[in-house]
Amino acid sequence: NLVSKEMKEDETVVQVADKAFGGGSFSVIAGPCAVENSEELIDLAIFLREAGVQILRGGVFKPRTSPYSFQGLGKEGLGFLAEAGQLAGLPVVTEVLDVRDLDMVLQYVDMVQIGSRNMQNFGLLREVGRSKHPVLLKRGLSATVEEWLLAAEYILTEGNQQVILCERGIRTFETATRNTLDISAIPLVKQLSHLPVIADPSHATGRRELVVPVGRAAVMAGADGLMIEVHPAPERALSDGAQSLRPEELKNLMRGLKDLLLVR
Ligand code: PEP
Ligand code: MN
Repeated sequence: NLVSKEMKEDETVVQVADKAFGGGSFSVIAGPCAVENSEELIDLAIFLREAGVQILRGGVFKPRTSPYSFQGLGKEGLGFLAEAGQLAGLPVVTEVLDVRDLDMVLQYVDMVQIGSRNMQNFGLLREVGRSKHPVLLKRGLSATVEEWLLAAEYILTEGNQQVILCERGIRTFETATRNTLDISAIPLVKQLSHLPVIADPSHATGRRELVVPVGRAAVMAGADGLMIEVHPAPERALSDGAQSLRPEELKNLMRGLKDLLLVR
């Protein structure tokens, strides 16, 4: 398979504008679960850049369990995200839910995210595979490592090698956390594949107070980066407030990362 280490010995470096993942490069993606408005996003983006974050995230098409929950700002949100990224000097990533929106999304972002619920949307995978944009492929809610790697294979077979894998927790019998971060998947996938692997302790745990320790564990397990949800006032976030770090908490996490990266 194209994703496997046997096909390509050296690690693939995924380049998102001037930021890199893999081959020794470590980057942090941070931002709100959803883009909610322009002003707060700009302020947050500048804060994140100053804290050392490499890439700004923000959902504009939200895959909500209930159709009555906030669905994201759509095209208007894409404009807000691109503008905030530009003003802060950060590349941006957002999730595409529907293949019909892909061309529009690609005009606004530096990287496109395939969410957990779409990991096996094979039409969408093939279509992002035909683009030149880097792709952040999240592990499916209940996907095995093999299924996840085969999903990435769909993108690579179309000619796009710029794929970052993201472990974001899987469903288990445990309900105390939102999902269960599969920590072993990080070193395992790095042994099986040349693609960079990052971890998302926000969606993995669903609980703010667990995000930092679990994120640090993922770094020690060999992750090439982290994805972290941050909100200026999580108590009024329109989605995923319970797992969103406050800006100061994110800053502390960033400060601690340097030492971890030196000793791992
Ligand atoms: C997200 O990162 O915005 C998201 C919805 O995550 P996941 O697809 O992992 O649930
Ligand atoms: Mn979220």
